[in-house]
Amino acid sequence: MKYPVTFNAAVLVKHDEDLQIKTVTFDGPLQAGQVLVKIAYTGICGKQIEEIAGTRPDPYLPHLLGHEGSGVVVDIGPGVRTVRPGDVVVLHWMKGSGIDALAPEYSFDGKKINAGPITTFNEYGVISENRMTVIPKDSDLRIACLLGCAVTTGLGVIWNEANVRPGESVAVFGCGGVGLNAIQAAGLVNAYPVIAVDTSAANLKIAQEFGATHTIDANTSDVLEGIDKITENRRAKYVIIALADPKATELAVEASAKPGTVYFVGVPPQDARISVNALDIHRLRTLVGHWGGNITPDVHIPLYMNLYRRGKIKLKELITSEVSLADINVGLGRIQTGGAGRCIVSLAGVKSQEKATAIEGAVTETRR
Ligand SMILES: [Zn+2]
Repeated sequence: MKYPVTFNAAVLVKHDEDLQIKTVTFDGPLQAGQVLVKIAYTGICGKQIEEIAGTRPDPYLPHLLGHEGSGVVVDIGPGVRTVRPGDVVVLHWMKGSGIDALAPEYSFDGKKINAGPITTFNEYGVISENRMTVIPKDSDLRIACLLGCAVTTGLGVIWNEANVRPGESVAVFGCGGVGLNAIQAAGLVNAYPVIAVDTSAANLKIAQEFGATHTIDANTSDVLEGIDKITENRRAKYVIIALADPKATELAVEASAKPGTVYFVGVPPQDARISVNALDIHRLRTLVGHWGGNITPDVHIPLYMNLYRRGKIKLKELITSEVSLADINVGLGRIQTGGAGRCIVSLAGVKSQEKATAIEGAVTETRR
């Protein structure tokens, strides 16, 4: 591989503003454990929305973003053993096997630009060996990008953390990419009932297609009354919170049985506080944190890909919209407004800076 490598990337220059499409350079050479990947697709998740909003301290501006993707390995740095050039990989934020490499150094307009060990809102990425997992070469790259975060988190919380059994009750609050997969996983192990709660009728319709046996529209009905009716006042043995709003989180906690377990999967804002009933905790209502579906990437990513390829799980239906890198701000807007499923970004869509700038201009123009 000849260095430097120059490519387009969506850069977070200022908080609470649109990402800017910039031509970014990696001078090379690759350091120990670093892998150069040509990225095909990336998903957008709540974490990036939060990073852009700047709700947490962020000393790294300007920086690159994104933590779920798919692509093809182009070059490997010293010490890399788990991937080879030509390998098709899922890019994920959870640490798998291989070297935990240093973050790469990129630049644009002669200035340094920061990036973590994985970023995916860029046409090429220098990514740490332990943030990628090889999948079969004929895998669908559009689907594969979802296995970096949303799918593995949603399936993993039900199958690896809660270990839900047939006939046990599950309530999922929030039917985005993660929530829909939690619903799907619960349905596949014959949990009953599987209750989807959301404020959007459209999201609830998709939730039914993913295996929800009951749905509750929090906008038009009393959620706890609905849960009581469905569960004959027992409430849900497992509650999955796949949203970030503190008020909705308090409501979700109340939906849990005693004993029962509540998984905090959506990432709340930095200073979020919630109020819970202490006696309910005493009565074994258990509140637990959550870390990426507790998956082992090398084991679970190929496993879930295989389930998809055999028609056992739905993944294609999760992709509710697709944009090019140049239109990434449009995609971010769609996720912000709480649409169901996942918006994915095609990185192959923008080949040159001229084209990127032209499309960027057009997009800005239409939004004014
Ligand atoms: Zn994510």
